[in-house]
Amino acid sequence: MVRVLYPGSFNPITKGHRQIINQASELFDEVVVAVMCNPNKPTGMFTIDERVAMIKELYKDVDNVKVVSSTGATVDVAKENDCKIIIRGIRNYTDYDFESGMQQINYEISNGEVRTVILFADKEYQHISSSIVRELFNIGKDFSDYVDPLVKEKMMVKKLGGK
Ligand code: ADP
Repeated sequence: MVRVLYPGSFNPITKGHRQIINQASELFDEVVVAVMCNPNKPTGMFTIDERVAMIKELYKDVDNVKVVSSTGATVDVAKENDCKIIIRGIRNYTDYDFESGMQQINYEISNGEVRTVILFADKEYQHISSSIVRELFNIGKDFSDYVDPLVKEKMMVKKLGGK
């Protein structure tokens, strides 16, 4: 049984993230999506609970995708969930530089127990990021191609001041 952890901010979850989760759910027995509170990233758009609820809704029919949240260290979340593998996605060289350093740190601070596996989204989704989606939203441009209709709907509700 190979269970993997896919940590991220998912603020909001994009079609790029979705591709990584879908690939991981086909390749491994179970995927634990971990919505992480990253103090170095701007609060973004949705609260942790809202992000968890949205991802759960999107994967309600997929048995091997689970969603958790944490403010702790990724390797601790991996261990708590019995995951020896962290999944990360790479879009470009900037992501590569960051992830190659991060995977080494995570390997070391987990005492060699947690490895990182990199997946790539298909070409048409590789350029998508949550920050670009938020930017398009803020300047009033269409971002429907980059997120699921459910996510777009929740964003529009936020704009109108709803919950
Ligand atoms: P972002 O960097 O968009 O705020 P997250 O912190 O939520 O995203 O990212 C979680 C993981 O998903 C990271 O490893 C990130 O590189 C990866 N990822 C995000 N978008 C894509 C994409 N379009 N293609 C491949 N990987 C992606």
